[in-house]
Amino acid sequence: MDMASCARAMVLVEPRQIAPTRIPTRDIDEGGWLATEATALSGADVQTWRGDLSEVRYPLIPGRQVVGRIAVTHPGIDVEVGSRVVVEPAIRCQNCPGCNLGLATCSRRQPMNSYGLISSVVPPGLWGGLAEYLYLDPAANLHEISDDVSAEMATFAHPLAAGYTWAVEIPRLMAGDRVLILGPGPRGLACLLAAKAGGASWVGITGLSHDEDRLQMAQALGADLTVDIEVDDPAQAIADDLGSRPDVVIDVTSHDPEAVFTALDLVRSGGRVVLASTKGNRALHFFTDVIVTKQLSINGAVGASNSAYKWACRQLEEDPRIDKLVSHQFPLSEAQRAMHATAGLLGHDELISVAVTF
Ligand SMILES: [Zn+2]
Repeated sequence: MDMASCARAMVLVEPRQIAPTRIPTRDIDEGGWLATEATALSGADVQTWRGDLSEVRYPLIPGRQVVGRIAVTHPGIDVEVGSRVVVEPAIRCQNCPGCNLGLATCSRRQPMNSYGLISSVVPPGLWGGLAEYLYLDPAANLHEISDDVSAEMATFAHPLAAGYTWAVEIPRLMAGDRVLILGPGPRGLACLLAAKAGGASWVGITGLSHDEDRLQMAQALGADLTVDIEVDDPAQAIADDLGSRPDVVIDVTSHDPEAVFTALDLVRSGGRVVLASTKGNRALHFFTDVIVTKQLSINGAVGASNSAYKWACRQLEEDPRIDKLVSHQFPLSEAQRAMHATAGLLGHDELISVAVTF
């Protein structure tokens, strides 16, 4: 592939200040270059845009859910030029204490070692998906995906992989398990798809009134129960529908501290709770006795596993319904608007996942 000497990029100069710029694609002697085809924006990008993550250093190029074609390879990249790949956001050095423990967070590059979160002052500068080219670190994890899947649909590999890790791998989902998902965002809907594919016999999902379209999508994707918690009491709705308590509850809400109480309250005794949503450093005050007396297993979850990415890339080829989950598309020049859409500032009607396409 021909490689341009400069990449058009949208740089987050400081919180809420996105500026178009051009960044040279310098000569590299290891790793490679990816020609970006599409980048989905996520809650983490919105947090970076708002300035909510104190450890992040600006300027940076947002965008951590990237799909593209391999343009240039050097030692460290073993995928052929021209291949379409999904790039995992987390770069894992396989050497630091976190990597050795199999954790999602690698501490080799401080303060962050993840696409969309590394400052653009770190050479070669192109570390985010809102740019024509992305630098492929030799430790980047790449997953080939079929040309039959559109680039924007392929961006859903990222939430889908997270859904598989959180709903299937971490709670060790067994056939027949009943699963409740708190939060119907892209990752909540991905948990639904993964739980159903993993053999769950019942999947319920809760949201707020402004999530109406997302809850309707959940029904179309096979949810057995959807609950608007601003209208109905979820405990009552689940009791009426299921007649018992769910085996697994997954918190995928958007920073709702109450969801932790809801999860611990609604799960059955001996059940599993997966917490996949941070609470903005807010303290929670509650009695831990519920964990003891109900003998609960609680897992914190960050990111998706390598095996979950492989599952997600296969699933995208097999499930055309996933195409509907990428609801909004913007060109790179409208990155600011795309960020506003992701943050819900343009309204919630039909909003599920937002992609910037090239
Ligand atoms: Zn590491």
